[in-house]
Amino acid sequence: MNLKERFKNALHQRDVDKVPALSVTQTGTVEFMEATGSWWPDAHYDAKKMVDLAMAGHEIGGLEAVRIPYCLTVLAEVVGCGVREGSEDTQPSVDTHPEEMGIPDSLEEAGRVPEILKATEMAKEITDGEVPIIVGIEAPDELAAHVMGSSNYIKGLITNPEHIEQTLEQANKLSIEYAQLVLDSGADAVCVPGYSTLDIVDPNSFQNLIKPTYKEFANQVEGDVIMHMCGHITQIIDDLADCGFQGISVEELTDIQEAKKIIDGRASLIGNISTSQTMLDGTPQQVKKEAKKCLQDGVDILAPGCGIAPRTPTKNIKALIQARNEHQK
Ligand SMILES: [Zn+2]
Repeated sequence: MNLKERFKNALHQRDVDKVPALSVTQTGTVEFMEATGSWWPDAHYDAKKMVDLAMAGHEIGGLEAVRIPYCLTVLAEVVGCGVREGSEDTQPSVDTHPEEMGIPDSLEEAGRVPEILKATEMAKEITDGEVPIIVGIEAPDELAAHVMGSSNYIKGLITNPEHIEQTLEQANKLSIEYAQLVLDSGADAVCVPGYSTLDIVDPNSFQNLIKPTYKEFANQVEGDVIMHMCGHITQIIDDLADCGFQGISVEELTDIQEAKKIIDGRASLIGNISTSQTMLDGTPQQVKKEAKKCLQDGVDILAPGCGIAPRTPTKNIKALIQARNEHQK
């Protein structure tokens, strides 16, 4: 069983020889940048640098997938948001919002999309199609929030839900099209970090606006989709499992045993070692301890709970794979 087969089997809850140990969220670290000479922010814009850095996560860190890119601003930029490019240890971020979402004539040729597609193809070629390629893209609600600005998005859910619905519809079309382009270029899965947790939206808005949007996304995209969600999501995990995602990726605030019970086989569960504390500031022993608890609790794929912090030491990334190997002798 090669790494890609192992990943696909785990994602679809079929038998595996080992639980895959990888990251569905960002993997660019300063140590990997030093090792490859591919630095942020350049690696956000140039396909070759993007892939070189991503390969370090696999070849040096031992992660059993190649994960690109390192930000969630590709579509935001395409529709007209201003993007600050960040530094070697901060990700690009949206800093201005367009009046309206600008829809490109050809998404394939817009902004950084061609570089991401090229990077996907390159990663596939380098790994002979034997290592899973996972591409992160903006979820429709994330894109809507980028376009409107977070506070307008949150306010709008209450004061002007019709406008939010329209924006979500437009954003979803674009997210779906982009996901399909990425999958057609050879990605084995897309990871979409959803934005609208109950820390952001009220339960009604989630049911009436967000859930149908996610469902549409999962239904329309042909290929494997992983929903990643940060924050407190125990209350909505049943809804997420209804949407048709192949995998659900959670951070350490979510209890794996409880989540697994609620999901009840409707999706695979991915997570959830703390990136902000254990992986960034802990020792390899602490990472291993947390990883083994995840495995005991029944994760289908062992992974960091969120994007790996750029200052994370490589030894703490390697500890993830060591823990899996020790757990499954
Ligand atoms: Zn996250």
